[in-house]
Amino acid sequence: MKNVIKLSFYSAIIGFSLVTISCENNTDLNDDLGVESAIPVESLPFKYRNAELTEAENKKLTDAGYQLDEVTKLIRTNEDGSKETLYNTSDYSFSPASLEQSLADPSRGYRNANTVFGNRTYTIALVDFGGKYRAAAQSAINDFNNVLRTTVRLRPVFTSFSNLRNVNRDITAYIFDFRGTSFRGNGQGEIPTNNRPGRVIGLNYIRNFESSAKEIGALFKHELLHNFGVEHSDWATRRSCGSIVPVPDDVPRPIAVGGNTSGDFIDALMASCNPFDVFNGVFRIRFTEYQTDDIITMRGIYGFK
Ligand SMILES: [Zn+2]
Repeated sequence: MKNVIKLSFYSAIIGFSLVTISCENNTDLNDDLGVESAIPVESLPFKYRNAELTEAENKKLTDAGYQLDEVTKLIRTNEDGSKETLYNTSDYSFSPASLEQSLADPSRGYRNANTVFGNRTYTIALVDFGGKYRAAAQSAINDFNNVLRTTVRLRPVFTSFSNLRNVNRDITAYIFDFRGTSFRGNGQGEIPTNNRPGRVIGLNYIRNFESSAKEIGALFKHELLHNFGVEHSDWATRRSCGSIVPVPDDVPRPIAVGGNTSGDFIDALMASCNPFDVFNGVFRIRFTEYQTDDIITMRGIYGFK
């Protein structure tokens, strides 16, 4: 018996291709995947569980301009056993410390985000990235280094899940099955905390089932910038997702360091939903490369090199 999963477009960030995926009931996801395999969430070295937002958290999130019905709270247990709270919205998460930093000093980062130390090379581990995922990651990291050309660079380490514990890294990228989590986009980034990049990038195996290497590369480029503190270029309106979300005037606004500062700009890889054009009746992702606004933004934060 076929179980047809129809995925909504809501909050799908880059490349929400018109996916209608058929899969057998009770089939192990790792069957039929070839070299591209998804890591079950329960197998991740990072464990997630949902938690309730407190009244105090609700107030801070509201003060920072978040819509409470779009924020979920997660508790993550890290590999070393430490626990972290994360707030998840759209296709990225952020920490309470990051929220405090945004509230205390909106000029600290660009568009409501926090940043990392510049003049450094950060190591990103890519866990079990095969096939189109490997090509996508290589392309994304190459463009991060050679198109953005800022003082922050990435050093990729392709590794297996079993060898991960031996890899010192700043960011860990996984392909995993988001079902059963509150992650809803094609990918998942993480805003920096205390000047270190977001720890995790997740790529949603299910939603990228039909995506090409080029489209996954675009998704990866988008999530990478979240991990270095860049928000969505249409953060105020989310117009690229087809909805206009009014934001109260009294919400503190970050001081932008470059790029289009309107909060309603969609011609960027960092648009909330990468816009689509229609070719021959088929929706295609619009941007697969960093756009001028993305480049100006990153150079504005970290400097050109
Ligand atoms: Zn995003």
